[in-house]
Amino acid sequence: MNRTAHDSQIEDPKSVSSRPIFSNRMKPIKLVDLQSQYHKIKPEVDAAIGEVLESTMFIGGEHVKNFSQELETYLNVKNVIPCANGTDALQIALMALDLKPGDEVLTPSFTYIATCEVIALLQLEPIFVEVDPDTFTIDINDARSKVTPKTKAIIPVHLYGQCANMDEVMKLAQSENLKVIEDTAQAIGATYTGSMFSGKAGTIGDVGTTSFFPSKNLGCYGDGGALMTNNDEFAKRIRMIANHGQLKRYYHDDIGVNSRLDNIQAAVLRIKLNHLDSYAKSRQSVADYYTSQLQDDVNIITPKIAAYSDHVFHQYTVKLEGVDRQGLQDYLESKGIPTNIYYPVPAHLQKGYAHYSDGEGSMPVTEKLSREVLSFPIHTEMDEEQLKHIATSIKEYLTR
Ligand SMILES: *Cc1c(COP(=O)(O)O)cnc(C)c1O
Repeated sequence: MNRTAHDSQIEDPKSVSSRPIFSNRMKPIKLVDLQSQYHKIKPEVDAAIGEVLESTMFIGGEHVKNFSQELETYLNVKNVIPCANGTDALQIALMALDLKPGDEVLTPSFTYIATCEVIALLQLEPIFVEVDPDTFTIDINDARSKVTPKTKAIIPVHLYGQCANMDEVMKLAQSENLKVIEDTAQAIGATYTGSMFSGKAGTIGDVGTTSFFPSKNLGCYGDGGALMTNNDEFAKRIRMIANHGQLKRYYHDDIGVNSRLDNIQAAVLRIKLNHLDSYAKSRQSVADYYTSQLQDDVNIITPKIAAYSDHVFHQYTVKLEGVDRQGLQDYLESKGIPTNIYYPVPAHLQKGYAHYSDGEGSMPVTEKLSREVLSFPIHTEMDEEQLKHIATSIKEYLTR
């Protein structure tokens, strides 16, 4: 091909489309920027990882023990039991409840699949519940209407970083004798302040579960998870299940699983736990900026912050009304702004879960939300220039 001098200055169109067009100096916008975050704590992290490598204590070890204790202190909970990931944490919590096959567990359909997955995996019945369309967390009236004599547990998910209405969850659980597992994978560090109950997310129900997946608010550099509970008996049972059902080595009193947090990840988490509150503040100021810029637009409904919970903004998720969502995403993409949909297909419409579902039309609130939600970039390392560019670009699209 004959290239002229002019041609050779034209960049690969693919690389152009993923970069901001009118500012060469702006830091590229990412949904999550773990690299910039790492650079700020790099000396500490590298030293801690290096020290674990030298010690060769990869499984178990001081960091795992110390991190668990430090997280107990931070959450003001009696027991933190680390495990391999957030999905395992949910599975182990359910295993510890001693349910029978066919027992029913209430869980929102508008969430990540993990909750429904472990319920089904343990041969329990996931019962899909609607969410409140303003807070995106479990709709207790719908939950109550779906309770049967077989209902044994409820899993509220603190979606996007805000706690479900735990007073309502606990009232229902007490009146129907249900166990409560709080999925706090997206809300670690959030504080619930109800009129009957209060505490850190994950510490109000019988057990809380969380994930340290890298992009979570408290993320490690691989997989990790934990369970938290104030019930010592329950904690003992959970520890045993997560460790092959053994209390004493090679004596298996129970059927368990192998689910461990490793020492390198725990070392990273100890460092990041010290920053968790300031990370939440950074996320909250990003959210405040978006809301201040977008709240007057009739086509966008900005996140509602409930009176009973603060919001640690794992995601900043709006509802679009009368907007071509794909069109907006494409436009923003052309401006170097990634967006995402959490979650495009609710659990009850997933093919793998058809057996448990009444199908399309059975959960109108959830189905409407999955058509309307859109999440904008939010993380701990966003700067003003990026935020202005995002807000301006959204407004440009909406007023075209
Ligand atoms: C991330 C997440 C999980 C699963 O965590 P993993 O560590 O990826 O297994 C569970 N529930 C919710 C709500 C999540 O966001």
